[in-house]
Amino acid sequence: MSEKKCPLNREQLEALTKEFPTPFHLYDEAAIRANARALKAAFAWNPGFKEYFAVKATPNPYLMKVLKAEGFGADCSSVAELLLSESIGLSGDEIIFTSNDTPATEYQKAVDLGAIINLDDISHIAYLEEHVGLPELVCCRYNPGALKGGNAIIGHPEEAKYGFTREQLFEGYRILRDKGIKRFGLHTMVASNELEASYFVETAHLLFDLVAELSAELGIQFEFVNIGGGIGIPYKPEQKPVDLTVVGEGIRKLYEEKIEKAGLGPLDVRLECGRMITGPFGYLVSRVLHKKNTYKQYVGLDACMTNLMRPGMYGAYHHITVPGKENLPCDFVCDVTGSLCENNDKFAIDRALPPIEIGDLVVIHDAGAHGHAMGFNYNGKLRSAELLLREGGEVVQIRRAETVEDYFATLDFVGLNKFQA
Ligand SMILES: *Cc1c(COP(=O)(O)O)cnc(C)c1O
Repeated sequence: MSEKKCPLNREQLEALTKEFPTPFHLYDEAAIRANARALKAAFAWNPGFKEYFAVKATPNPYLMKVLKAEGFGADCSSVAELLLSESIGLSGDEIIFTSNDTPATEYQKAVDLGAIINLDDISHIAYLEEHVGLPELVCCRYNPGALKGGNAIIGHPEEAKYGFTREQLFEGYRILRDKGIKRFGLHTMVASNELEASYFVETAHLLFDLVAELSAELGIQFEFVNIGGGIGIPYKPEQKPVDLTVVGEGIRKLYEEKIEKAGLGPLDVRLECGRMITGPFGYLVSRVLHKKNTYKQYVGLDACMTNLMRPGMYGAYHHITVPGKENLPCDFVCDVTGSLCENNDKFAIDRALPPIEIGDLVVIHDAGAHGHAMGFNYNGKLRSAELLLREGGEVVQIRRAETVEDYFATLDFVGLNKFQA
């Protein structure tokens, strides 16, 4: 079971809405830090362990600064994400640049920052060399294809556009070695939102075996393996979080057997999780605008799919609570909707909730990753504010809400007046 409880109660949230109108995203700093420490503790046996926060999950530099203070780096895949990392003072091997279909300008920025370059394809060795030059340390992304089962969000590895095949990996590192590269990493990312601890232990197993084979065949030495992100979170109350100790201990045993005994150490174990770092600790707070009773019961919020698109896009479950009504029976079955002119703009379908009145606050849980980040402006909807509940209880705004001026900023209305239709 995972408890679904907003850190602020109804009175505190109502007070907050006087300053920051709904909808807004609220993040819980104390919980984010406690979780970050639990992750580090699970890998404390590996002195070089580092988590690179996947910036795309929640690209807010205030949150990134909190994570940096906990010792995390950043996993980036675009110039904007690199610039955010730079803005909080990350550089060098605190950043890994894991992109695909990458333009030269983005490689250039990553190399300028000294970031670890993680190549997505064998053809990018020549591309990077030609346009930017090869850095001192190179990592390659492995796609194990049919050797590893996938899951719903990322699909089957052999259908995924990412990474090198096994044969290409041997060829790629050989080319890099022959070009004089001496420092190597190995990466894979084969799952997303996976709740089974053993899955990550198996992924590490795959990479440890591969490190041994590549080292033996090519006479090169690896500095790290990056087992990717993808640790899931319990979106449903009946689900359990991944036991990080089981992941850490499982990988430690394999490390001793496959790396240490084989004289392949020291090898740093690295992760690049996004979802599990901030997801459970972010809440979309909204208010009920309308109730509607037609062929079904509908509750209409002042938030919509542009604030959190996961339910509409993947049919994902997000738990919903009504502050102040936590102890009432959930006997009101309804669809919880937003105002987009799209019928998939529903946060929940046939959800049993406590009796709801217009004006009630509604909290949508587990919105802290791939929530605000996936926001969009369709239908002229504006992105909401992001607020951070600090450890001391103070709430600070870490991103203001968009205004219509932001929405129109790319249009030239002076030119429009001169434009003859
Ligand atoms: C999205 C992504 C991550 C983070 O995935 P989570 O499921 O949020 O942990 C890590 N690495 C890469 C390459 C990604 O594309």
